[in-house]
Amino acid sequence: MSVEKNNIDQEKSNSGERSNLSEQQENKGVSRRQALKYIGYGAGGLLVGGGAGFYGYRRSLQVSSSEAAKVRNAKFVVAGGSIGGLTVAARLLRAVPGADITIIEPREEHHYQPGYTLVGAGVYNRSDVIFDQESLFFSDMKWVKDYVEAFEPDRNRVITRSGEAIDYDYLVVGLGVECNLDSVENLREALNTDYVANIYDLSSSEKYRKLADDFEGGNAVFTYPPGYVKCGGAPQKITWLSEDLWRDKGMRDKVDVHFYTDRNTIFPTVPRVDEAVKPLIEARGINNYYNQVLRAIDISTRTAIFEETTENGTVREVRQQYDLLHPMPRFQTPKPLREGPLTREGIGGQLSVDRETLQHTQYPNIFGVGDNAATGAAKTAATIRKQAPVVAGNMIDLVLGYEPSNKYDGASGCPLLTRYGRCMMFEFDFEGNLINEWIYRPTQETRVWWDFKVHGLKRLYRHVMMNGYV
Ligand SMILES: Cc1cc2nc3c(=O)[nH]c(=O)nc-3n(C[C@H](O)[C@H](O)[C@H](O)COP(=O)(O)OP(=O)(O)OC[C@H]3O[C@@H](n4cnc5c(N)ncnc54)[C@H](O)[C@@H]3O)c2cc1C
Repeated sequence: MSVEKNNIDQEKSNSGERSNLSEQQENKGVSRRQALKYIGYGAGGLLVGGGAGFYGYRRSLQVSSSEAAKVRNAKFVVAGGSIGGLTVAARLLRAVPGADITIIEPREEHHYQPGYTLVGAGVYNRSDVIFDQESLFFSDMKWVKDYVEAFEPDRNRVITRSGEAIDYDYLVVGLGVECNLDSVENLREALNTDYVANIYDLSSSEKYRKLADDFEGGNAVFTYPPGYVKCGGAPQKITWLSEDLWRDKGMRDKVDVHFYTDRNTIFPTVPRVDEAVKPLIEARGINNYYNQVLRAIDISTRTAIFEETTENGTVREVRQQYDLLHPMPRFQTPKPLREGPLTREGIGGQLSVDRETLQHTQYPNIFGVGDNAATGAAKTAATIRKQAPVVAGNMIDLVLGYEPSNKYDGASGCPLLTRYGRCMMFEFDFEGNLINEWIYRPTQETRVWWDFKVHGLKRLYRHVMMNGYV
């Protein structure tokens, strides 16, 4: 059977990573041998844990040859060729080689977004997070290099920006979410000034690294937006890593670190992690402000303007001068989704799906995966690792005439980088309860999970998930 168009060249071309990572190991006194040992532990743990989690819903991905023939007659279209769309497509092809899969994806360069935090922290370079999009496709996936302009679910087709109509029997929607730069007044302009950057864009992340490195002191202000957030831990991670950087440079007393969040605590998604992390962060002298929404930026006076909801429910304006600002706008889904027929009232433009089967609530032949799906789960690649086999399995169920039998349990994961060389790694469910605790020691800052985040997760993403081994 055909196999993926190999990624070895890509790995080689990422030589920047090698020099960068060895530098990192040298700086922190970790030998290559130790790092590999940790990676081995980590990978073993994840595979055992992951395997246990996945085992229950692999059954309908096993198909007989007559069933596979039926699946090959169906036309699958995937809107969005990133980690969500590609992991589903690869999983489907692992189950049924030769399945008819078309992927609509406009970009020629794929970004490993979980690496953006490490770019902002100076651990990765730009080249460490870029893959040639074409290298990610299996050779029997068809690539339409275009945008989805409109969904026409009543006619089982999508229209691309160039006007092509693409028919499908089954559609997977994996368009992700994007920063809404218009949700904060003057944000676009502020991002072009010398004091403002954020890690949710690769170039801005590189800029942030330089700002943090060159920072001579003053008010360093970090914000956290309302609504759903892509990787809800990343704004905290960059705050804490920056504080650690300045401490390491011996200039901590020259910096006031301020973290403004619209939530009422630091890490509300998982209460036990919040309890564990809060005293650690407070002990480091970071000023946390709750129930604060960044509304505007006054560039001329370098002031971030917040709306604070007070305990009695009134709203008041809070102004914070900054010498370095890491602002976070709200998120939104891409236009064809948020303004099209596949969303509904009250879910912020996300794809309306059943949170367990991931099937569209109105159109049974449409499924959602990843950040754009309204499941209430965390918007992370770790979530997709659990969702992709559910989507692939349920589409096969439908082709074969069954009801969807696979269920997503809400599981997600987070490598919470608390300082250089330390990470709290944990998995959690829909309700924010910790799961697989025996693998992670989730409420402790450990070296092993830092190494796994830096050296292992990108490989899991690229070689395990995108190759359909989930
Ligand atoms: C700073 C940062 C740190 C993160 N850290 C972590 C982490 O530590 N761990 C973790 O698990 N996750 C992390 N994530 C989250 C992770 O990157 C996302 O959850 C993941 O990329 C979501 O995948 P997706 O396929 O749903 O969407 P995306 O990866 O966002 O991809 C969406 C795709 O859809 C395409 N698209 C958009 N509009 C259209 C259109 N109209 N037509 C066709 N195609 C379109 C885009 O080109 C893109 O390829 C982080 C993200 C960021 C930004």
